[in-house]
Parts: sequence; structure tokens; C-alpha cells
Amino acid sequence: MWKWYNSKIIKIESIAPTTKRFWLQIEGDETLDFKAGQFVTMDLPIAEKRLKRWRSYSIASAPSHPASNVLEFCIVRAEAGAGTRYLFDEAAVDTNIRFKAPDGNFILTDARIAEKNLVFICTGTGVAPFRSMIHDILQRGLPYQNLHLIFGTRTEAGILYQKEFEDLQSKYPNFKYEVVLSRPQPTWNGRRGYVHAAYMEAYPNPTAETDFWICGWSKMIDEAVEHLLLDLKCAKSQIHYELYG
Ligand SMILES: Cc1cc2nc3c(=O)[nH]c(=O)nc-3n(C[C@H](O)[C@H](O)[C@H](O)COP(=O)(O)OP(=O)(O)OC[C@H]3O[C@@H](n4cnc5c(N)ncnc54)[C@H](O)[C@@H]3O)c2cc1C
Repeated sequence: MWKWYNSKIIKIESIAPTTKRFWLQIEGDETLDFKAGQFVTMDLPIAEKRLKRWRSYSIASAPSHPASNVLEFCIVRAEAGAGTRYLFDEAAVDTNIRFKAPDGNFILTDARIAEKNLVFICTGTGVAPFRSMIHDILQRGLPYQNLHLIFGTRTEAGILYQKEFEDLQSKYPNFKYEVVLSRPQPTWNGRRGYVHAAYMEAYPNPTAETDFWICGWSKMIDEAVEHLLLDLKCAKSQIHYELYG
């Protein structure tokens, strides 16, 4: 069950031209017990009406044991967006942020992690819940089959947490990290285009043991669900998604 927390921004860092990492520390002695993949809803001072002030953000850091009072978020500035304008232009270190948490069912069970090949598909800050899940699985030393993170963005500058995922890939067997760029420089050696071709090629006939987890904005998610259901003939139970908007 969620409840309201008072927190303070303790650090802000640019990670890409329009994307920042924000670290929030809960005030007092409280900590947040959450599951990897869950989100918080911030009450930002951007409107009079309560519901117009609320913006949800996935927790990008992994849960720690015991629970921590510091959470990381990875947030992209939306064009003409009121919430992100506040977070990018007005909020700073020491700004208070009230949020309710934890929320959401975009979570993996330990049994699913142990039994399934997990394919994580995202664009941009849709990587946030997967970063939390991947760190959680690896930090807790949970048994897993295959973890495959497919991250899409336009250009090299938009790649989020690249070094971190590359390091994990070289350290952990059966963790594969793939970046797909839709508008790369001519020098880009990786995959070009959209994320869809990456999983369609890698899993042309997915067995029931393969689960697809998708996070991001509606266009990408709608396309992915259509490809998975109609082209790859996946069962609905193999497809899980978190829609940002
Ligand atoms: C469960 C959940 C978790 C979320 N987690 C994150 C997160 O971790 N990081 C994050 O950056 N955002 C996340 N979002 C999106 C976030 O809640 C806001 O919608 C977003 O920050 C825009 O808010 P805004 O007030 O700036 O723009 P608004 O004024 O609310 O919206 C402007 C318009 O732009 C659209 N839009 C905003 N950003 C994009 C985009 N990049 N691509 C396409 N359309 C877009 C919105 O749907 C809206 O139509 C999440 C949303 C949900 C529901």
C-alpha cells in the first residue's frame, strides 16, 4: 500500500541532452520499501488542482536491503510539459518533493526470473524500471535464465547508462545489452533503426519460456504489442508493459 513521503532533491546530474538523473532523499527516519519496476507519483507545484499536479516516475535505482531512503529517477524533458519544466528549470538541490509510493504492478516474481528468458524492450527513460530490475536480480544473486536489454533512442548522445550496462554485460553471463539508434552518426557500429527489428530477429519463434517486458510511450508499446501478438504469435501472458503516456 502506498503512502505519502516528504523528500528533498540531493543531487541532479545530466545524463543526455534532454535527460537528467534526480536523487531524492526521504526526510526523517523513513525508508521506502518497494519492488523493482514500481513507480512514485510526485505532487509538483504546477497547478491548483491536485490531479493536475501529479506526475509518475519509475524508480531507476534498485531496492536495497534494508530499504534505503534515497531513490534515483531518470527523467526526460517533455516538450511544453509542465511537470518536467518544473523539474528541469525550477527544482534544484534542496527542493522539497512530496510523493506517494510505491505503486505499480510492473514487477517480476523471483519464480519468473528463475524460469523465463526475460527480454526488456525500452526507448529513452523507459529504461528506468529495467535498470532497477536488472540491478536487483544481479545484486541479490537470483538465479536467472537469460536477460536481454534492448534500448532504443535516436542518437549516440541519447544513450542512457551505457557504460554501466556494458560493464554488467562483461561481468555477468547471459546478460545481453543491445543499443538500437534510429538516427546515428555514420560512424555508429551498432544496430540501426527501431527496437522492433532487434527482438523480432533474436526471437523469431519465441517459446512460452520467453517473456517480453516493454516500457515507454504509447507509439512504441502499441507497435511492440502488435508485433509480438500478430507476427511472433506470443500469448498475451508473455507480454508485460508499462505505459508512460
Ligand atoms: C507509471 C509511469 C511511470 C513513468 N516514469 C517515467 C520516468 O521514469 N521517466 C520519465 O521521463 N517519464 C516517466 N513517465 C512520464 C511522466 O509521468 C510524465 O508524463 C512526463 O514527465 C511528462 O510530464 P510533463 O508534465 O512534463 O508533460 P505534460 O504536460 O504532462 O505532457 C506533455 C505531452 O507530451 C507527452 N509526452 C511527454 N513526454 C513524452 C515523450 N518523451 N515521448 C512522447 N510523448 C511524450 C505526454 O503524454 C503529453 O501528451 C512515467 C509515466 C507513468 C504513467
